[in-house]
Amino acid sequence: METIPEEIARQRICKFGRKILNSGLTKGTGGNISYRLSEKDILITPTGIPYPELGPGDICKVDYDGNVIETSGHETSSETPMHVHVYNKKEQVNAIMHTHSPFASTLATAGKSIPPIYYQIAFVGDEVPVAKYQTYGTLELGKAAVNALEDRNGVLLERHGVLAVEHDLESVFEVASIIEELARIYYQTLAAGITPDGLGEEEIKRLMEKFKGYGQQTT
Ligand code: 13P
Ligand code: ZN
Repeated sequence: METIPEEIARQRICKFGRKILNSGLTKGTGGNISYRLSEKDILITPTGIPYPELGPGDICKVDYDGNVIETSGHETSSETPMHVHVYNKKEQVNAIMHTHSPFASTLATAGKSIPPIYYQIAFVGDEVPVAKYQTYGTLELGKAAVNALEDRNGVLLERHGVLAVEHDLESVFEVASIIEELARIYYQTLAAGITPDGLGEEEIKRLMEKFKGYGQQTT
């Protein structure tokens, strides 16, 4: 499990909150971000506070039952049950980001999963499936998300938005951004009446391997 000091984790959650807002992945107070701080604690954004106003001390700390264990003076995200459920079910996941990014939310509303037609799908999995609709803020939404996730890094939440999971906050922001890009490209092919072929299972596996070594490799 990746461990970073709590204060740094709190600062990064605030930074990525501003990033999801400024990069158009969400609007207003929509979406939420969490981080697996330790085997006992999860950090998560508070409910309904505008991202530009969030400071490290505003982030909430909960346990693996979703109970507040250190108050920040704010109520925790309404989606705490979903985040906690994913951490309980997926031990490789250390960071979770929920967004309402527009193209992905459009497909989620249409109930359309994103097929493997564009190479960056391999950052997420073999497709981006749609998790069955459940009311926001419920454990059922978390269960639907986990069912759809399997070993992927992201899903669409039917008629709602996106859930991205990863091993750290930097990567989960990348996945949430890529899901929006994949959704935009797929939407554009649909709008143009084009039906591209899928990349195929073998090529997706090849891309997944290649992406592991993508970028500057520092040791
Ligand atoms: P919170 O402000 O409670 O985190 O909720 C926003 C949201 O996106 C609910 O799905
Ligand atoms: Zn939401």
